[in-house]
Amino acid sequence: MRIGAHVDSTDPVAEATARGAEAVQFFLSDPQGWKAPQPREDADRLRAAGVDLYVHAPYVINVATLNNRIRIPSRKLLLGHAQAAAAIGAKGLIVHGGHVNAGDDLAVGFDNWRKTFAYAADSGGFGVPVLIENTAGGDNACARRLDALARLWDAVGDHEVGFCLDTCHAHAGGEELLGLVDRVKAITGRIDLVHANNSKGAFNSGQDRHDNLDGGTIDPELVVAVIRAAGAPVIVETPGGVDGQGADIAFLRDRLGAGSPAA
Ligand SMILES: [Zn+2]
Repeated sequence: MRIGAHVDSTDPVAEATARGAEAVQFFLSDPQGWKAPQPREDADRLRAAGVDLYVHAPYVINVATLNNRIRIPSRKLLLGHAQAAAAIGAKGLIVHGGHVNAGDDLAVGFDNWRKTFAYAADSGGFGVPVLIENTAGGDNACARRLDALARLWDAVGDHEVGFCLDTCHAHAGGEELLGLVDRVKAITGRIDLVHANNSKGAFNSGQDRHDNLDGGTIDPELVVAVIRAAGAPVIVETPGGVDGQGADIAFLRDRLGAGSPAA
């Protein structure tokens, strides 16, 4: 099982080495901005590093919204990130499920997701697996609770689409972690990546506040159980840099019996 961390994008391979990580996730541009990603000069080195690479799309992306001034640039930015992720040999591009505004019809939001995949197909394809991630908050989210996730998958499931399960988001979003993997897989048929995070916020608080695995409001053994059941690669998006994330990775490796990475 490959275990890694969300790291700074300057030198992801060095960050992986510092944490004993076999995988890294990073941004290709400012996560709060609308700038298209620039080609990375270290693309060859990243591809050859033997570290699994995941790219997280900017937070501003919301392809579900009925606001076309957000939706149209969002799907364009998503496609740009997918193509840039493909250029470095990334295993996947993670993007949040998004939401519609209060009073808007969530059904249109799901259809906007379908249109996003159709748009990408018409534009030459994403070129990398797109993994939709569950989110923690909001009353009009496409992937906070499983009833919405089922409707989302009805809309996009015919396309090549993957799922990223975030344990903090699930707990804070109001989904019990016990048995969650089976309930998700009954909908999506797959979990491609686990974001293993504890949650500063309480169950169903709607708060997206990550904590280290031994902190927060989730029993860390439940996070371990989710990972075991999912059988998917793991990324910790926890605080504390090399020390904090390194400790989280070491904890997971110990509990999962994954041994140390090859030197
Ligand atoms: Zn996450």
